[in-house]
Amino acid sequence: MNIININSDIIITPSQKSFIEEVLFCGDDHHREEFMFLLAKVIVHEFAHAQLDYRDDNVKYRKKDDFWHWMEESMANQLTLEVFRDFSRGYRHYKYQKSSFRSKSWEDTLFDFVVDFVKKQPPAYALGYELFDKRIWRWWIWRNHKDDLGGQKRAQQKNSWLQYVQSNYRNIDEEQAEKLYDELFK
Ligand SMILES: [Zn+2]
Repeated sequence: MNIININSDIIITPSQKSFIEEVLFCGDDHHREEFMFLLAKVIVHEFAHAQLDYRDDNVKYRKKDDFWHWMEESMANQLTLEVFRDFSRGYRHYKYQKSSFRSKSWEDTLFDFVVDFVKKQPPAYALGYELFDKRIWRWWIWRNHKDDLGGQKRAQQKNSWLQYVQSNYRNIDEEQAEKLYDELFK
């Protein structure tokens, strides 16, 4: 499962994919279904954090503040949603041997479950759905420039971005969000 879009370089390795599949398929009892989905979501979210910190980038930011929390958790969830969207889409194209768990319903249910879960999470996490839905990409700019934003650096721009997303995390305006994001890295 490669997550490919023009601007994205996140790739889930084959071993990571197998691991997620194992989690999802370790039970054939439908009543466990929701727990498996939740577990898979949490695991993918953790992989996303690793993607956002792949060169120990968080150390460069130093003290984790509110800005860090909102940026990091929303982007981890945005990446999580991308993974599940592609995962579900991919499965619709595969021909699987007959199995009750691999029935038509689960791949649709899985993505809907993750979307629903993210939307109900605390605000910094729920913002991830807006970023995903409105296609506000370019998470890697944040990852690559954590050292430029640590401590008191660019405090005013960080505050403007934070205030905007805190007040609008359920209804982001793409243009405004992109503008405030760009200001951070000028
Ligand atoms: Zn997290």
